[in-house]
Amino acid sequence: MAYLKIIHEGDPMLRQTSRPVTEITPRILQLLDDMTDTMHRANGCGLAAVQVGVLRRVVVIEVEEGKTLELINPKIVSWSGEQCEVEGCLSLPKKWGKTRRPKAVVVRALNRRGEEVEYRGEDLLARAFCHEIDHLDGKLFTDVLVGKLEYED
Ligand code: ZN
Repeated sequence: MAYLKIIHEGDPMLRQTSRPVTEITPRILQLLDDMTDTMHRANGCGLAAVQVGVLRRVVVIEVEEGKTLELINPKIVSWSGEQCEVEGCLSLPKKWGKTRRPKAVVVRALNRRGEEVEYRGEDLLARAFCHEIDHLDGKLFTDVLVGKLEYED
């Protein structure tokens, strides 16, 4: 188990674009494992590599307990509907806000074996896909707020 340090808003790295993974090396596999441990410890439902200071297109998501999705070079290939729900981010602790997201998305990515996988997500899972993939392009949920940001003490 290895926990990685999560960077916070204000760190310019969060605004950078992550590079695609061209080869799934042992380092990438280690990164996936460490990101999953880090996400669990932080009680998050998703984490992008940039949030632990690695500018690679790698994401882990766990919306359903015990069911971790590992996505390498993920891409949203279709989306439908709309939802406005409250969202937060491990890089913006204690901040929450309503965002506008698609109701459902289909995501294509590589798994840790380099195989192409496709997932369909609705509601919370759709939000998680959009949120984490946005991170890879230097975007934060505060960029798609529909209301104002809420602070929690
Ligand atoms: Zn986030």
